[in-house]
Amino acid sequence: AADRPATSKPGSVGRVSKPAGARPGPTTASRKRPIGGDNAGDKMHRQMFDKRESRRMNRRPFAASVKRWRDENLTASADEANAHETPARGSISVFARKRPLFDPERQRGEYDVVTVKGASTAVVHNCQMHADLKRMFVKHCAYTLSGGVFDDAVQEHEVYAKSAAPLVAQTLKGSVGALFMYGQTGSGKTHTMENIEKHAVDALFFGDSGLPGAKTIKVSYFEIAGKTCVDLLQPGRVEIRLKELFEEQGEELTGQMEVELVGAKEPEVTNAAELKKVIDEGKARRQTSSTQCNASSSRSHAVMRLTVTLANGSTGRLTLVDCAGSERKEDNTHHDEKQRKETAEINASLYALKECVRFRRLKFSGSGSSSVHVPYRNSPLTRVLAECFVRDDAGLAVIGTMSPASIDTEHSLATLKTINAIGGNDDNEGYEE
Ligand code: ADP
Ligand code: MG
Repeated sequence: AADRPATSKPGSVGRVSKPAGARPGPTTASRKRPIGGDNAGDKMHRQMFDKRESRRMNRRPFAASVKRWRDENLTASADEANAHETPARGSISVFARKRPLFDPERQRGEYDVVTVKGASTAVVHNCQMHADLKRMFVKHCAYTLSGGVFDDAVQEHEVYAKSAAPLVAQTLKGSVGALFMYGQTGSGKTHTMENIEKHAVDALFFGDSGLPGAKTIKVSYFEIAGKTCVDLLQPGRVEIRLKELFEEQGEELTGQMEVELVGAKEPEVTNAAELKKVIDEGKARRQTSSTQCNASSSRSHAVMRLTVTLANGSTGRLTLVDCAGSERKEDNTHHDEKQRKETAEINASLYALKECVRFRRLKFSGSGSSSVHVPYRNSPLTRVLAECFVRDDAGLAVIGTMSPASIDTEHSLATLKTINAIGGNDDNEGYEE
């Protein structure tokens, strides 16, 4: 009964049993194969497969080559001084985190192709065959990130302290901040975010860096799936509407604004235990809703907004975004129409994010101009974060998560490239080590 055929749905019957000759439609065989450009997708898919296959088949020499690189390049003296910069005004702090290679992956013949060098450089060892399919070579692509890079042995509190604690401190001063997790599915976005949440919840209530904690916190937690926002804090997949509220002084707009979540349930909590309970409720709903809708949570962004009321009556806000899985193109040919739309939407929202960060930098950096408009209306993701783009005192950070497995080489490279671009290094292909 569960796998009722699609033809029993009203409306689709006609399409399937369309009388022959009604219109010279495509044959079944050719209908399955998308027309035109998608053959290019097939080809890309095949190439990707070949690359992976050769990487796996030649794992011994490739892994040996990676080891040799490490032996030569990871000397104690090469460990650069702590390079954490204070981000330029209006910019975003960019971090990457490498997760450990898991035993089951090792047993499948995977090897570790990501190296963290010093405090802020990630190197992806891209193992490839020459076109003659005889000679092998390894390209060592390095990216140096403004915030820093965490290796697979990092302690969770260190990740929090470097990436999120500055945003929490800003929130406790009455400002706003946002933190994004970006990376392919399975690379550790949710794992990293959950640990940051734990630390942040405590710090927001108990205070941090000498700043007193919040009196109350209003929580909102929702998913952005395609163009719609769906509440995670009430049953029934209730939709949330975003409404911009502009601050006025007398008749004048001050340039400050915030976004109201119309229709959202936003409980106000007074202690860390209560807050954790609400967060758990939202997480459980994200799990079940993704199973029911037959879409994995990897296809939606999860947004948690913590609006903090301080003892002096002012408010601050921290927004935590666990982005949809970054893997795209490669599996495109196997997606149906709905999934293609979602993919387009996810790509659009990430592009919008990058653009907003860029315009914000133009607006607030040293030679910036306050008349620059940040195009935050282009996607729900950036609309939710609008206040972070228009306020010059907002803090922004992104953590790109990476799997070290050789099979994920392309994804890890793409993640570094994208977060680097979000940070403003557009034409950076990584430099060769
Ligand atoms: P994503 O949210 O990016 O899809 P997850 O956070 O769910 O990925 O991580 C996938 C799996 O890997 C989970 O079982 C998670 O517990 C584990 N994992 C991820 N990052 C780490 C890490 N740094 N240390 C240990 N386990 C991790
Ligand atoms: Mg996840």
